[in-house]
Amino acid sequence: MAKIGVLALQGAIKEHIQQIELLGHEAVTVKTSDNLCGIDGLILPGGESTTIGKMLERNDMVEPIKAMAQQGTPMFGTCAGLILLAKKIKDFKTPHLGLMDVEVERNSFGRQVDSFEVPLSIPSIGDELTAVFIRAPHIVSIGEHVEILATYEERIVLARDGQFLGCSFHPELTDDVRILEFFIGMVNEFIKVPR
Ligand code: GLN
Repeated sequence: MAKIGVLALQGAIKEHIQQIELLGHEAVTVKTSDNLCGIDGLILPGGESTTIGKMLERNDMVEPIKAMAQQGTPMFGTCAGLILLAKKIKDFKTPHLGLMDVEVERNSFGRQVDSFEVPLSIPSIGDELTAVFIRAPHIVSIGEHVEILATYEERIVLARDGQFLGCSFHPELTDDVRILEFFIGMVNEFIKVPR
């Protein structure tokens, strides 16, 4: 059983917790840096990246999360969470955590349609996954070690950079747990590595 932390400052938190528990793992609500202690992986949920970013600073959580990343802890960002993880945010001077080697653009699927759902086929994960996009970002460019896992309308919407998984959409808002299972696979690989 893995211990998965869910950053719980703002956004879609309980849906991630429910999915983690549904898969038989332990979910840890992470509101302070003390809560990071002992977790095997961290999920950064969707919400509003500017708000969550400010709260991370205010709660002195930026450096502790970076230190965990330095130790190899897997991290999964969905939507705003992807923006928090990214090394670059288009049209913004500074990143939030600046960990995953991608550049993202915020609110990049047009303003008329704030949210929509599409079925996606993701070769390394499965077919017919329902992707829920809500004022979603997309990945505009990637570093050389980043693996593209899914695209939608020729835009990168799911990618992996070693220990980091970043997703434009909200897998936790469906009852399909395959992307979370994929992340837990990454966590299990990490747990096996002697530390
Ligand atoms: N538009 C939000 C942002 O820029 C992300 C939206 C979401 O997480 N659903 O932070």
